[in-house]
Amino acid sequence: MYDFTYTTHSSRVVFGKGSMKLIQQEVETLGARRALVLCTPQQRAEAETVASLLGPSSAGVFDGAQMHVPIENARRAREFAKEVGADCAVAIGGGSTIGLGKAIALESSLPIIAIPTTYAGSEMTPIYGITEEGLKRTGRDQKVLPRTVLYDPELSAGLPAQLSFVSGINAIAHAAEGLYAKDGNPVMAMMAEEGIRSLAKGLRGVKKNNRDMEARSECLYGAWLCGTVLGNVGMALHHKLCHTLGGTFNLPHAQTHAIVLPHALAYNSVAAADAMARIARALDAGDAAGGLYELNRELGVPDGLRAIGLREEDLDLACDVAMSDPYWNPRPVEARPLRELLHRAWEGCRPRA
Ligand code: NAD
Repeated sequence: MYDFTYTTHSSRVVFGKGSMKLIQQEVETLGARRALVLCTPQQRAEAETVASLLGPSSAGVFDGAQMHVPIENARRAREFAKEVGADCAVAIGGGSTIGLGKAIALESSLPIIAIPTTYAGSEMTPIYGITEEGLKRTGRDQKVLPRTVLYDPELSAGLPAQLSFVSGINAIAHAAEGLYAKDGNPVMAMMAEEGIRSLAKGLRGVKKNNRDMEARSECLYGAWLCGTVLGNVGMALHHKLCHTLGGTFNLPHAQTHAIVLPHALAYNSVAAADAMARIARALDAGDAAGGLYELNRELGVPDGLRAIGLREEDLDLACDVAMSDPYWNPRPVEARPLRELLHRAWEGCRPRA
């Protein structure tokens, strides 16, 4: 029986090869005149291309985006935006750069245009994160949701294959948890299933040929759908666990998501049987957790948290931190099975329900 509430967040999405070239037009559509381009130091060249496409509408480039959005960088970027008289910001990059755009918007209400170059999905969510004195504070505010998103598959073609795979599985995690969300709804469920299907197909295509535009387009389309799910419904065990592991042990974001996901799904498999059936169908696999584990292996995702720097002696602390902040999950989160889940994810063995 249906029983749900559905609220939409409005943003404009322009999808297609070469859509980055529409940037000047999109700035005008927003009613803005001077756009500050944001990027990481590594993506300065892409940001300069955007600035040159903007021509006289460019207010310059700020290349101080960093993982986890340190408050100092957000302050410097806000000051710089004021100094150059920017009335809008264009964030070109992954979740870290889009996160910097959100941190600017949170205080200044400057509209943000996002041009994502990974599959993380931050561009479709009103969720922000800012790190102050070692603590990452997250929250939701409609002000930070990018007003326009340009999805250009040509840009993600520069993302190295290994990063593409973990980033794509990171996106699948949003959809998978969206399928058993407490506040889920049928529209998000359709988007989630289609997002998983597209990413699984697209990532396999990228594995064959890193620069295959059809495959890149399929992945980016899936990332849009999965990011939309993340922005609209609540997440559970998997996201909380990855947040703990990233925050406490400074593990890389997308890799952590990719490794933990099959194990988190196995943990929830009995309690969320309908969601698991939809995930399995989207993956064309016998079961959701096993299907994702196999996909990870096929793509060569690091096999286990130990491969990305977590020490076995850290597992108890990881379990304690994850247990310290209660949250909703389809199956109650209990210390013993959670510790077992962590051990399996650390070792990289097959997930077990
Ligand atoms: P990232 O933005 O940290 O990028 C990783 C590195 O890859 C950076 O050096 C970046 O410059 C580089 N890069 C990005 N795209 C590239 C490309 N096409 N070619 C070559 N290099 C490229 O990584 P991410 O996984 O996209 O984002 C992770 C961050 O985003 C985390 O801090 C996470 O918490 C946050 N996030 C937030 C949300 C949200 O809704 N607020 C959602 C997802 C992720």
